[in-house]
Amino acid sequence: MLLYVHVPFCVRKCGYCAFHSGPFSRDAAEAYVEMVLREMKAWGRTLGRVAVETVYFGGGTPSLLEPGQVEDLLQSAGACFNLDADAEITLEANPDSVLRPGFLGSIRRLGVNRLSLGVQSLQDDLLAMLGRPHDGRQARRSVQAARDSGFNLSLDLIWGLPGQTLKRWMDDLAEVAALAPEHLSCYGLSLEDGTSLARQVEEGDLDLPGEETQARMYLDGTQFLESVGYAHYEISSYARPGRKSRHNQGYWAGKDYLGFGPAAVSTIGDRRWSNPVAFEEYASVVTGGGGTNEVEVLSTQMRRQEMVMLALRTAGGLDLEKFKATTGTEFPWRHPAVEQLRSSGLVRHRDGHLQLTREGMLVSNSVIEMVLGIVDRMHADTV
Ligand code: SF4
Repeated sequence: MLLYVHVPFCVRKCGYCAFHSGPFSRDAAEAYVEMVLREMKAWGRTLGRVAVETVYFGGGTPSLLEPGQVEDLLQSAGACFNLDADAEITLEANPDSVLRPGFLGSIRRLGVNRLSLGVQSLQDDLLAMLGRPHDGRQARRSVQAARDSGFNLSLDLIWGLPGQTLKRWMDDLAEVAALAPEHLSCYGLSLEDGTSLARQVEEGDLDLPGEETQARMYLDGTQFLESVGYAHYEISSYARPGRKSRHNQGYWAGKDYLGFGPAAVSTIGDRRWSNPVAFEEYASVVTGGGGTNEVEVLSTQMRRQEMVMLALRTAGGLDLEKFKATTGTEFPWRHPAVEQLRSSGLVRHRDGHLQLTREGMLVSNSVIEMVLGIVDRMHADTV
């Protein structure tokens, strides 16, 4: 089992962000922690100290919590569940908030062993354009501070930004690689509906780099990271040997996960549910004061689709034996659309797996959609 704790506060909203988060205050954080502790206890009683291999504090900005609050949450996770002695415990953090005196040393001593820092860029004008609460200097200082505190360190970066050139992206990568984090997540900018950045681009106030430049950012960036020792193991993820994210790999392998906090999603077996987004409604569900989480029962078709989609995101790809065991049929290599994907160099058959090539990963959404369409039609033909 994987545990996810959603911490729904940020000091301010970044211009590109569509995640659920609201303004931070001490009182709101206290009320939130109290509710998550109650939620954990309730699930601990229901599931009976089930084994847990990873805990992930995501958000929002988990690094706005006080170390004492992280301690309460971790102690509760240990008391309510059977936390592995070597559990991976990750906390997402923003560079500005981890520079509070003593913060990193304290959470490291409490057992947080992996830090995921939202650096995004080292360049001040790009950070300001994104509405990030930190600048490049704070980003560099926070990476050094995380290094000094002994974390297994992951950095988030974004490519494809308005005003970013290929050279500026490669400069960021070179500087970041010299800081030697164990893991990097490099995301292509995604313009989310309703965000101020999407509006600025729609209205022509900001221009995205051209398609060709964006493709080079992904392909050249990946090649560079591989040349300095990072394995490209998922569309956006790069790791030094032995440093892949265990938590994310658990999601991609379809393991059960339990989410705590407002808007957190859980999946156990074929049941999936989301906690209410609004804190009051969430608290009402947790305290039994009314309301329930809406539970979705995942159909066989949905589970099969998800297995294919998640596996294709990884460099390892879709295990064709597992595919056959799940669907009862061989993967349709002779299907004309599969032939087309292969001859275009977007997918390949290697070591018993269907894999997206690097070029396929660049356009992963459309390739995965095509494969899912083929699998669904194939299934419809056999029932
Ligand atoms: S800090 Fe992260 S979660 Fe908060 S608004 Fe910015 S991108 Fe979104």
